[in-house]
Amino acid sequence: AKSEGGNLHRFFHSGMTDRISRSTRLEMELRNAIEREELQLYYQPKVRLDSGQMVGVEALLRWPHPQEGMISPNEFIPLAEATGLIVELGDLVLRLACRQLAAWRDQGLELNVAVNVSVKQLLRATLHLRIDELLQQYQIPSHLLQVEITENNAMLNLDHISQQLQQLRDMGIRVAIDDFGTGHSSLATLKELPVDYLKIDKSFVLKATVDEEDAMVVKTIIGLGHLMHKQVVAEGVETREHADLLQALGCEQGQGYYFARPVPAEQIIQMWNQPVAI
Ligand code: C2E
Ligand code: CA
Ligand code: CA
Ligand code: CA
Repeated sequence: AKSEGGNLHRFFHSGMTDRISRSTRLEMELRNAIEREELQLYYQPKVRLDSGQMVGVEALLRWPHPQEGMISPNEFIPLAEATGLIVELGDLVLRLACRQLAAWRDQGLELNVAVNVSVKQLLRATLHLRIDELLQQYQIPSHLLQVEITENNAMLNLDHISQQLQQLRDMGIRVAIDDFGTGHSSLATLKELPVDYLKIDKSFVLKATVDEEDAMVVKTIIGLGHLMHKQVVAEGVETREHADLLQALGCEQGQGYYFARPVPAEQIIQMWNQPVAI
């Protein structure tokens, strides 16, 4: 039994070493990729559910890795959060988004761009100053930039977060609460946080057309949002049925594969010129 235990120990240990070295290697590579600006933003349309009109886009990070292909943000964002790299990564996202906004403006396209901002990034007292600096540098009106902030367990200090968000809103930047319903303190956060939009997480939307109770959850979130004077945006609109149901429930905007996948910036112009089918 003793030797078995020893083997088991070694077995687990070597597995852990592999995992640790992979994340250590990825951390190093991510640091370099940020410095060289090798990450890219893809853009996914947000659509008005009543008219099918594109109202803006969400910027979503992509990391084209030389050996591993595209690495999902679901993998490298948590790594960036854990290592503190999220602050530099977040700054790169803001720079890339502002450059793109300027490029679209020069092409005669006035599009809203929503960027995802981590709570860690927001807790830096200087975020609003940095955003102001970038907007001035690229000559972009603040109403074209939106910030999406995920409701999660890092939101321990709601007062401080509210203050930071209000500073952004005072500048004219619209704020959305992301992944609504997945955290543990939805009601408290919704009541306390100064936000303009509420985004329903795709996990609820995806089930809403097959499960009565999930449909009720979505209906309740939309009602709650409206009661608090927020506009409601649904993620994960994959089918016509999702779009129809959400519109019937009074949801203002939708985003999902039914309308368009996240695509490189060049493809957004074509979509803008031809109305999205609904
Ligand atoms: P999120 O902010 O909730 O973004 C929505 C995710 O749903 C995106 O995944 C998007 O590609 C995906 N999606 C969109 N439509 C559909 C659909 O119809 N069906 C399904 N099943 N999925 C859909 P993605 O691009 O892999 O991003 C994952 C997460 O990574 C994001 O979730 C966000 O939390 C984080 N993330 C992405 N870019 C950034 C960034 O620039 N900064 C930060 N802090 N986080 C980011
Ligand atoms: Ca988001
Ligand atoms: Ca989500
Ligand atoms: Ca999220």
